[in-house]
Amino acid sequence: LCCSISLATAAAAPLPYQNPALPTETRVQDLLSRMSLEEKAGQLVQTNLTRLMAGNGYTRGHLDPAQLSAVLGQAHVGSVLSGGGFAPVPNTPAAWAEMTNALQRYALDSTPLRIPLLYGADGVHGHNNVLGATLFPHNIGLAASFDPALTLKVAASAGAALRATGVNWNFAPDADMGLDPRWGRFYETFGEDPHLVSALVAAQVRGFQASPLTGVAATVKHFIGYGQAADGRDRAPATASEPAIDNVLLPPFQAAFQAGAASVMVNSGALNGQAVHASGDLLTGLLRRELGFGGVTISDWDDVARLKTVHQVAVSDEDAVQQAVLAGIDVMMVPTEAAAYSATVSQLVRSGKLPMSRLDEAASRVLALKFRLGLFERPFVDPAQAAARVVDRELAYQAAGASMTLLKNAAVGGLPLLPLSVRTPRVLVVGPAARDPRAQLGGWSVDWQGVPPEIEVDAVTVLAGLKAQVPRGVTLAYQDGSDLTELQQAARSADVIVSVLGEKPGAEGQADSPALALNDQDLKRVQNLRRFGKPVVTVLLAGRPLDLRTVLPASDALLMAYLPGSEGGRAVADAVWGSRNPSGRLPFRWPTRPDALPAVLGAAPNLPSLFPFGAGLSYTQFAEQDLRIDPVARTAQVTVSNTGSRAGQHVVLAYDGAGPSRQLVAVGKVRLAAGERQTVRLVWLNP
Ligand code: BGC
Repeated sequence: LCCSISLATAAAAPLPYQNPALPTETRVQDLLSRMSLEEKAGQLVQTNLTRLMAGNGYTRGHLDPAQLSAVLGQAHVGSVLSGGGFAPVPNTPAAWAEMTNALQRYALDSTPLRIPLLYGADGVHGHNNVLGATLFPHNIGLAASFDPALTLKVAASAGAALRATGVNWNFAPDADMGLDPRWGRFYETFGEDPHLVSALVAAQVRGFQASPLTGVAATVKHFIGYGQAADGRDRAPATASEPAIDNVLLPPFQAAFQAGAASVMVNSGALNGQAVHASGDLLTGLLRRELGFGGVTISDWDDVARLKTVHQVAVSDEDAVQQAVLAGIDVMMVPTEAAAYSATVSQLVRSGKLPMSRLDEAASRVLALKFRLGLFERPFVDPAQAAARVVDRELAYQAAGASMTLLKNAAVGGLPLLPLSVRTPRVLVVGPAARDPRAQLGGWSVDWQGVPPEIEVDAVTVLAGLKAQVPRGVTLAYQDGSDLTELQQAARSADVIVSVLGEKPGAEGQADSPALALNDQDLKRVQNLRRFGKPVVTVLLAGRPLDLRTVLPASDALLMAYLPGSEGGRAVADAVWGSRNPSGRLPFRWPTRPDALPAVLGAAPNLPSLFPFGAGLSYTQFAEQDLRIDPVARTAQVTVSNTGSRAGQHVVLAYDGAGPSRQLVAVGKVRLAAGERQTVRLVWLNP
């Protein structure tokens, strides 16, 4: 009896790194001291999910035992990602949970040290890789709410959804500035104001990381200058002056670090002539020494290899790995040969080209993140709970509602055209985007370039939303508008036309749009709308300010709906029928002539605009009085009155100074009944 007890006690006594009561640093050092060179090297590499599946390259399939053994087993690769929407088959929340559990089990069993995996994905507007998950408005729409608290809630929901399926590392938020709408990633940003972007990025970091055990590690990306690419071309070399870097590009990252961001992803391009992935100045000098960032730095997709193939600053793969790791990259995201990268890291250390101290530093940061996320204690998730956790439609509805931005509402017959009512009893909705969920979801939705045509998703389209709320005495008809003769006939028996325009969904470079043009079918229809002699409401589903030179003269009212997500149609309908008074304001300037944009937009503060930053109308009127700003105490307040005849929400933007150099320092929001008045304390933005 005595002996069996003491044996059991000995077996149960945890090693220091297995003891959650010890400080993370102690656990990391203990674990590191037990790891082989190869095991440490593996922590610096991330493989793409497809490499672990049966079949080649982009074929979706099932986990492949031979690949698991080579990549996770022999090469000890420490993390996996689902780049660009790569998903298990079937693509359900439960299948994700089962798959990530299977990967965790494999990783744990492949070394006596039982080191869990990090699993990364791009959850940029919800758990946008899995079918059935609620999709929130893309960031550019969230920004129009000017509401850090709402942004935090949305991120917390998205983080919980990701974690419930076993994704514990999110490649978001995007902390790049949205300075150039031609750029295919403009909609992933929070727009053009550094203070607003900083506040919303910080809110997203806090939301994603709300709980270490049920949230996800946030990744601020792409450090630094990625949004500055010339002519808005994705990954084109960027230039920025030192003041622009300090005052415009860095604040969102600094705000994210203050909010505790766990990781940073590196800009795959070059800034001021330096390939950022090989830049010790930027990744160690600036990021670590000046800004004091202590978390994990991860490369972007295949960007270590691109030091050789694109930037041509490395002569071989080995040279590329050496330069990247020495510059300060801790984890290399390797879509193809992850096992080879792991071997290269070991080889570089053995041959003295990479100091063991640098390997230890990078591996320690990765291990620290795994400890902080509680993965050593709780590596698995419950597949039975996953489906329920990825759904949060009410919050998506709220967020989409808060983003709706009314830009024009001309009088027709003496009254503003919107909201629609029995005054125009026969409503004709036109445009394929009105019933195409792809248009309102945008890129990064189920798949990288948007929802594939063969996949059905559960989203409330604009047409469905409008139909669900048709007021008594009003009828609603629909035409896609491709046949102009049919459209003309339908228009004859309508009192008002709701014209829905949509942008083709896309992501990254494939969504670059040099002319910001409407698609041909929408353009042709818009050119003909005025011929029908009926008032026109335009609803724009787009991630950026498209060229409105044809649209605006053809519209009596214009509602910017951005890429509003799963509940977008309900939010649009609320604005159109007036059941919710629109309160969104533009988080960017709307260029007058997109074809005349300068190469670097950030350098043109006085660019003429069709609608200024902050534009946004309401169905009521608000008056602001007694604005008090105290920059030292960092407080601001203002008294707002609703002087119109309807209830509504008002977004307050408080600036310090005047003219082009004025700075947005505080924002606030207040809901007021007609005739009501309130003093509002504003949220200070300045990081
Ligand atoms: C993008 C990153 C993304 C990564 C993984 C890259 O192409 O630039 O933002 O996190 O892919 O999907």
